Amino acid sequence: MQQKIPTVIINGAGLGGLTLYHALIKNKDIKEFNVKIFDRESGPQDRWQGYHIGINNYGARSLINCIPSSIALNVPKAIPDPVLNVEYHGFSLYDHTGNLLLRPPTRQIKDVYDAANLSVGVSLTITYRDELRHVLLENVPVQWGKKCIGYEESDDGVWVLFEDGSKEFCDILVGADGINSPVRKQKLPELQISDHGLTMVIANVAAPKNLLDRLSKLGGNAVFQETVGLNGDISIILFRYIPIEQESYDEPYYRVTTFFQYPSKLDVNSKVDDNDPTSVIDHVKYMIRKLRPECEMTDILLEFWNLVPKTSPDPKKYPFKTYDLVRRRKMQDIDPLSVVWSTSRVTLLGDAAHATSPALGLGANNAIQDADVLSQALLNYSPENYISCIKKYEIEMLKRNSDDVLKSRFIDLRQSTPVSYTGSIFRNNFIKILNSVTNFFDYNLIERKN
Ligand SMILES: Cc1cc2nc3c(=O)[nH]c(=O)nc-3n(C[C@H](O)[C@H](O)[C@H](O)COP(=O)(O)OP(=O)(O)OC[C@H]3O[C@@H](n4cnc5c(N)ncnc54)[C@H](O)[C@@H]3O)c2cc1C
Repeated sequence: MQQKIPTVIINGAGLGGLTLYHALIKNKDIKEFNVKIFDRESGPQDRWQGYHIGINNYGARSLINCIPSSIALNVPKAIPDPVLNVEYHGFSLYDHTGNLLLRPPTRQIKDVYDAANLSVGVSLTITYRDELRHVLLENVPVQWGKKCIGYEESDDGVWVLFEDGSKEFCDILVGADGINSPVRKQKLPELQISDHGLTMVIANVAAPKNLLDRLSKLGGNAVFQETVGLNGDISIILFRYIPIEQESYDEPYYRVTTFFQYPSKLDVNSKVDDNDPTSVIDHVKYMIRKLRPECEMTDILLEFWNLVPKTSPDPKKYPFKTYDLVRRRKMQDIDPLSVVWSTSRVTLLGDAAHATSPALGLGANNAIQDADVLSQALLNYSPENYISCIKKYEIEMLKRNSDDVLKSRFIDLRQSTPVSYTGSIFRNNFIKILNSVTNFFDYNLIERKN
């Protein structure tokens, strides 16, 4: 007798959920699923998706494994090939005046396929997150405007409940619905979001060539540049040295993500209005001036913040697909192994299970790897053994992500601890020694053994 085709519902069409959709469809000749994907947003351009992210060789490998060749051909639109001799695709850490502290060994790859095939070492390619989501949305029948509010699970399957009163039945439910996942809140109510008392503000800007040239002159051409201050404050600039193709510019402009983070307690008496971008931008500039010394690096950071749009920008002058008002956000994470998991028809993937602080640039990479591992595990699905498939996925997913969340949290908290001037000399020298050691042994903290 022919078996019925099982249904998988993916709740959330972010980077992780979309990658899983493609992987399940790509493998349908081995194991066929009826796959449905829902998202609470009203459409693809509804919400800001825009900041840059680093995709490493592990994320690139899983991405290419999961997507069909027709989509893989479009990935360079989101992960453009590194510009040889102009960009260094890697991470560099500086002190608050722009002196180099750490530049871990990072393999320079020629394109995303090269990254996917890397067998030794680590690569890190700066990626347009909004474009990646756009590329991944191709041929995916997302059901938009469907906000999941919970589910009912039984021995036979799962009813997924939506805010509009509708419900859908499935054999497996995957919560790929981000840090505030309603699926996680119901499955594991005791798995809490950790708040480490840090505030971050992120914005996308189109920056003129002369500003990026000043940054590169000071700090080199790494496309992921971080500075660490004395007061628990850090800045991150992520950029690509690829001119924006828009006629309205009279000189070359480039896509840049600017990020500033500081201890939340510094905001205790501030009167910032998060619904007013001018108030937020002025506040970030005030913080930079207050926490940083007068120097070229501080001036450069301020100039990036001067470029942040205060109202919805003219699309002719704004290269990002989506725009949202800049606001303060809390730095949060979730250690998935801080509670005991019980395996059932309902599982989690990506930020829903293990939101990670951005310090090591791992969150999206791990969401994509989760999709790869889960889709492989589901190849052995049968109505009798679905629990063992999901368990196999969860064992790998939990270990890998718990390690990464804790590593990233450790670095974030270390960097966010205020130091005295003397303390900073000790800290900076320690990091410089670490730099020599990691480069001598050709070791990168995010390198995996397999
Ligand atoms: C500043 C910053 C820098 C970062 N840099 C990096 C980096 O360099 N490298 C890296 O790998 N990662 C980075 N990350 C993390 C990365 O962006 C996330 O980890 C990744 O996007 C998670 O993907 P996801 O699919 O799990 O969740 P998301 O991308 O958050 O997608 C979740 C989806 O679920 C939908 N959803 C939510 N609730 C519901 C609901 N109730 N019903 C239906 N749908 C719902 C949402 O609309 C969304 O589309 C960074 C994050 C930040 C904030």
